[in-house]
Amino acid sequence: MKVLVINCGSSSLKYQLIDTENDIVLAKGLCERIGIDGSNFEYRTNNGQKISKLTEMKDHKDAVSVVLAALTDSQTGVITSLDEVDAVGHRVVHGGEHFKKAVVVDDEVIKAIEDVSDLAPLHNPGAITGIRACRELMSSLPHVAVFDTAFHQTMESEAYLYAIPYEYYEKYRIRRYGFHGTSHEYVSDRTAQILGKKKEELKIIVCHLGNGASISAVKNGKCVDTSMGLTPLEGLIMGTRSGDIDPAVITYIMEKEDLTAKEVIDILNKKSGVLGMTGISSDFRDILKAVNEGNEKAKMTLKAYALRVAKYIGAYAAAMNGVDAISFTAGIGENNFVIRRMISEYLTFLGAQLDDEKNENGSDERIISKDGSKPVLLVVPTNEELSIAMQTVELVK
Ligand code: AMP
Repeated sequence: MKVLVINCGSSSLKYQLIDTENDIVLAKGLCERIGIDGSNFEYRTNNGQKISKLTEMKDHKDAVSVVLAALTDSQTGVITSLDEVDAVGHRVVHGGEHFKKAVVVDDEVIKAIEDVSDLAPLHNPGAITGIRACRELMSSLPHVAVFDTAFHQTMESEAYLYAIPYEYYEKYRIRRYGFHGTSHEYVSDRTAQILGKKKEELKIIVCHLGNGASISAVKNGKCVDTSMGLTPLEGLIMGTRSGDIDPAVITYIMEKEDLTAKEVIDILNKKSGVLGMTGISSDFRDILKAVNEGNEKAKMTLKAYALRVAKYIGAYAAAMNGVDAISFTAGIGENNFVIRRMISEYLTFLGAQLDDEKNENGSDERIISKDGSKPVLLVVPTNEELSIAMQTVELVK
């Protein structure tokens, strides 16, 4: 089947057209600055040429039209008509407690996504606009919504409840939801396949270390705990996000700097993490360069980053009463062997033995621990788009 995967942000739209029988990406691209002056469309043509052009897109419907025109362009497109597309898979960040798995979109589903939008005000409205535009322009196709939160809905209350008055959960559904669920599910499934075992027999910790970062404990194929919370701010140290802090830090900064709560949360989201700690960059390549040049703040930040990940791994090994495999994924987890080594140094008490040779060489899916290491350490590149496409196929075939 050919599935068009759509990932809408508030002013952006990323897409991939995937041939799911052969796991081939037929086309991909990105619309940016939708509804803002200078909107831009970036994509590859059927012969691999990269095009980037200013294209007026006043809303997401314009963006979808631009994408469909590029896909079916008689000279440079990859398909001759939209009839070749079998279904559309939409990434939706927040499904609240309502969505425990992917669903075929209808009017009721859109209403339910709208109902949980105040839990993800920066993300869900863009997704809804994108779904509406796609349904209008491709009305004969089935549309499927795949939620970042859905995989984590198997958590029990002891993992998802915060220790705050229970009435806030009852009134406002304040709880841990977790994000990057599509990635955690895909990587934990692949980990089981690589090990040649059934996922129902494994305890796996997935470390999704990208610009946003989260970690999850997956026992017998089900998520039992994850580090992100009500919003994607909790947990690990990230590119620009603080991850866990004492909540009292917020009021303390508010008083000292005469800021509002919203302004401080903005600082925790956009000016903290490795960017805030180093004052250099949110990009780990820049941080590693600074470490190599002897920058002390960069060294301290890297150590803090690795310690935070290791502490979560320890906690999740306890939460599952053991761990068979630990998989690293996303930009940093897949590419940065220094971080993987620093984290692994904390894990020898569990029995993990990193193989430096395997850790430092290779860029693909692989085991990076020594033979006999338990837990097994792995690098498993994530592929959220393929996962969305596969879940779409499951629902519509
Ligand atoms: P993501 O959000 O998954 O795209 O990950 C982005 C992060 O991955 C950034 O901090 C990048 O510095 C990091 N990253 C990507 N490629 C590399 C690489 N080859 N070496 C080190 N870090 C990388």
